[in-house]
Amino acid sequence: MICPKCNLSIPDTNLACPRCAQRRLDAALADAQPEYLRRVVAGTWDMQLAKVGPTVHATMFQGRMRAYCNAAIPERGAKRMAWPYNSKTLDAICVGCRIALKQAMEDLVGGAASIPATSSDTH
Ligand SMILES: [Zn+2]
Ligand SMILES: [Zn+2]
Repeated sequence: MICPKCNLSIPDTNLACPRCAQRRLDAALADAQPEYLRRVVAGTWDMQLAKVGPTVHATMFQGRMRAYCNAAIPERGAKRMAWPYNSKTLDAICVGCRIALKQAMEDLVGGAASIPATSSDTH
C-alpha cells in the first residue's frame, strides 16, 4: 500500500503510514509547547533539562524523550533537571537546543501578539 498523503510505501505489517503517524505525533508535541513556554517565560514553570554525558539538552514539554535540538534522550542514563528560564540555563544547554528554543520563543511572541488574549479559552 502507498500512503496517499506522503507516498511512502507502507509495509504490509502496518495499517497506517508510520511516517505520517510520526508527523502527527510531532505536530501534537509542537502544539503543546507554547502553553508551557508562556509559563516558562512568566517564571511559573521550569525548563525541563536532560544531561546526557557532558551535554545538557532542553527536552520538549510532554515529550521527555525528545530534545529541542531533535536529539533523542535515552530513558536511562539521562540526568533530569528542572531549571528556571534564565541566562544561566541558556548558557548550560547545547547550542542546537538554544537556537530551537529561541526560535520557539520568537514564534510564541509573534503568535501571542496576533491573537487576542480572550480567544485562548475558546478551544
Ligand atoms: Zn504517509
Ligand atoms: Zn540539545
